[in-house]
Amino acid sequence: MRQPIIAGNWKMNGSRESIKALLDGIKAGIGEVKSAEVAVCAPFVYLADVQAQLDGTPIAWGAQNVSKEASGAFTGEIATSMLLDFGCSYAIVGHSERRSLYGETDELVAEKFEVVRQAGLKPILCIGETLEEREKGVTTDVCARQLNAVIEHSGVEALVDGVIAYEPVWAIGTGKTATPEQAQETHAAIRQLVAEKNADVAAKVRIQYGGSMNAGNAAELLAMEDIDGGLIGGASLKADDFLAICKAAG
Ligand code: PEP
Repeated sequence: MRQPIIAGNWKMNGSRESIKALLDGIKAGIGEVKSAEVAVCAPFVYLADVQAQLDGTPIAWGAQNVSKEASGAFTGEIATSMLLDFGCSYAIVGHSERRSLYGETDELVAEKFEVVRQAGLKPILCIGETLEEREKGVTTDVCARQLNAVIEHSGVEALVDGVIAYEPVWAIGTGKTATPEQAQETHAAIRQLVAEKNADVAAKVRIQYGGSMNAGNAAELLAMEDIDGGLIGGASLKADDFLAICKAAG
């Protein structure tokens, strides 16, 4: 049985004040979340505040990106050791915004996945196709290419140290959610790709869906067999909406 995981990706949003109010709201309702694991991925500069507010609660926290380097002359970058210093458990790697806006390649994402894992943090590995790729019928090929880069670098067993987030790029921040059937079809295909290499890992690895998941559509997406949670952007910025998704996960 895979424990569902709901993770918020706040992206470049919030202020010290708004984050305090958001976390107060989430903490007030977290007792009603029965079985799902819950995490929030904050902008780097707010990690100290997030740690202070979430320490001792069942809510985990993490970053939205990380450097593949350990330390040194890498101006503006943040190392895994720094995330550990602030109590992080998770780091998102390969979000489509990092891939498309900041030129992150499959190889770089694979390197980041490995340093995150080696540090004892859990990588949330984002994969997914663009609208053009979906219309060309190459959704599974794109997911396989992105996933295989990590498997080649770290080995298939490494996948259970993290979480896979299937995020169709055309559904992120657009309000256009994949239907539960569309999402399930790709989640099953991703699990099958893993199963071809290691059936045990495929049975264990958690695959979240991300892309305009909200309080209204979460239950039917999360009811699908191969959907083990959600990576939530916009709806993670409102405590009530985020909690409703967490509760829908169980
Ligand atoms: C995301 O940024 O990972 C995401 C899924 O965003 P949204 O929920 O806003 O589509």
